[in-house]
Amino acid sequence: MKITQSKINELLHEPGCEHNQNKKGEKKNKSCTQQAQPGAAQGGCAFDGAMIALVPITDAAHLVHGPIACAGNSWGSRGSLSSGPMLYKTGFTTDLTENDVIFGGEKKLYKAIVEIKERYQPKAIFVYATCVTALIGDDMEAVCKVAAEKIGLPVVPVIAPGFIGSKNLGNRFGGEALLDYVVGTAEAEYTTPYDINLIGEYNIAGEMWGVLPLFEKLGIRVLSKITGDARYEEICYAHRAKLNVMICSRALLNMARKMEERYGIPYIEESFYGIDDVNRCLRNVAAKLGDPDLQARTEQLIAEETAALDVALAPYRERLKGKRVVLYTGGVKSWSIISAAKDLGIEVVATSTRKSTEEDKAKIKNLLGNEGIMLEKGNAQELLKLIAETNADMLIAGGRNQYTALKARIPFLDINQERHHPYAGYVGMVEMARELYEALYSPVWEQVRKPAPWE
Ligand code: SF4
Repeated sequence: MKITQSKINELLHEPGCEHNQNKKGEKKNKSCTQQAQPGAAQGGCAFDGAMIALVPITDAAHLVHGPIACAGNSWGSRGSLSSGPMLYKTGFTTDLTENDVIFGGEKKLYKAIVEIKERYQPKAIFVYATCVTALIGDDMEAVCKVAAEKIGLPVVPVIAPGFIGSKNLGNRFGGEALLDYVVGTAEAEYTTPYDINLIGEYNIAGEMWGVLPLFEKLGIRVLSKITGDARYEEICYAHRAKLNVMICSRALLNMARKMEERYGIPYIEESFYGIDDVNRCLRNVAAKLGDPDLQARTEQLIAEETAALDVALAPYRERLKGKRVVLYTGGVKSWSIISAAKDLGIEVVATSTRKSTEEDKAKIKNLLGNEGIMLEKGNAQELLKLIAETNADMLIAGGRNQYTALKARIPFLDINQERHHPYAGYVGMVEMARELYEALYSPVWEQVRKPAPWE
């Protein structure tokens, strides 16, 4: 896949994306097509985004072709877990130096690929371009092709150097690499009418393991996980699934849409957070697979699971009821977590709408009611002000906001990709309730809110 302006525009114009669908006339695609501004890569460049999308493929080696800092900057920031191979946790980089910048890094890349094959025997090698290797003009695709022939393994070039844009754009380039080099290159041993793919679920903190048993109980087979806890081979035969289920992420929307075009696989967008959303997800998957018996079994499973969940959540609901929280996250999580909080009797008094689509915002409005505050942009000061104004008991946000909460002397729950606890599925609800309870009722708050002895 060559990286050209038209390719970048194509991915920014993703027709399946509601950011685009809901804009009319001249406004259509406007912000999406703007040249990346300085600072666009803050919080993750395109290279970082491509790695986020692909590194959860656990039995592949992920080789960063660039200076050591590119691999180092993004290293270990995502908690995708594996149930087997751990090769994906090993960092490989060609560690380019000034010499390589002058003379080119292609030979070094070739040697690195051959060495990885000899020493680690991966199922495949993903090679990531970075700003430096794109600027010096290394022909990564040619090197990967020659190396793949030499070592007899798939070597996949992922051309998403950081300077082309944001992390989200990089996610899409990661998806393109899978479409161009991986999906459709092998056949599954057998297929069933109940084969689905999960797209955009990265198994952060092992969340997927809370959901897979539900599908298993229903007799639905998750053919390919794209890409949480995935093996390379399963993505090769992802084109044989009957349905693509996009989970809480528009990042790989291009992949779902193109698989529909190429292989006729329909896709639906679902969330695993909150009781209603999990119920809806299971119902929609069963309905799309079109088997009335499966639908009946799904209703039965939902009834059993929600009854058991009510019992498990009862002691937490009692203590959490009426607590007020400010939610500061992005995209679909802005509303999916509100719905999970509501299930526990918690009141979300304000939420951010960063990266949320018009459809997300409509859902948020509906869930928050007229009193709720929707925050388009925010910083630590605004958050502190908001917490004081709304008399909030807690902040639920990404890891970097934990110090904001500590300054306000209120409890904090990490909800973003760095989190260490799984909140998806029915079991995730119990985990979330426990975490919220422990954070809110920690004795430390009483201590820190007391005036200092010298005051
Ligand atoms: S790819 Fe570019 S923007 Fe991303 S970490 Fe490397 S140098 Fe920085």
